[in-house]
Amino acid sequence: MNKEIRKLVFATNNQHKLEEAREITAGKFEILSLTDIGCHDDIPETAPTLEGNALIKARWIHDRYGFDCFADDTGLMVDALDGAPGVHSARYAGPGHDSEANMEKLLENLDGVADRKAHFSTAVALIMDGSEYLFEGRVDGTIAETPAGENGFGYDPVFVADESGKRFAEMSSEEKNAISHRGRAMSKLAEFLSK
Ligand code: IMP
Repeated sequence: MNKEIRKLVFATNNQHKLEEAREITAGKFEILSLTDIGCHDDIPETAPTLEGNALIKARWIHDRYGFDCFADDTGLMVDALDGAPGVHSARYAGPGHDSEANMEKLLENLDGVADRKAHFSTAVALIMDGSEYLFEGRVDGTIAETPAGENGFGYDPVFVADESGKRFAEMSSEEKNAISHRGRAMSKLAEFLSK
């Protein structure tokens, strides 16, 4: 008998994230994007925490579109900046998603600062069969004085992971995924879904 594959929405249209999720759930779930379910809403991310924002997105899809769903939210927390940019990482330098400007602002704010400790955190919220679950992943590192490296996106050129001593932008995607905030949170989600 053919066992039907369950549909699960990932509340994103980021192709890279979708591919990663499809790989780790292959054969068990059909992962649908926001576009796949006809959702073009500008979902508000107004919570003060990553967990709160991930939950807002997952609940939005579950409540309005009726799908089981998961959503993620990530932030870069810098110790010397009291956890900034944090939940505002995407728009640190203002509206839009300009990674160059965000990094420039970060390096300016850390100019002459000796303590450069930072970490990335990702929260993943899942709503399945009427219950809510949270998974989190974290990677510790430091903020470099200058950007370098060609790979990745966002703050990758200035984030040096403690475990590798390299900037994320200097690592292959496999190397990065093995230790990254999102990689770790997604592994926990995958482990849960495989049960
Ligand atoms: P999002 O919640 O995944 O959209 O991430 C919010 C913001 O955090 C992004 O716009 C990036 O600026 C930053 N960010 C998230 N993940 C990473 C990463 O793996 N490397 C560098 N920056 C990231």
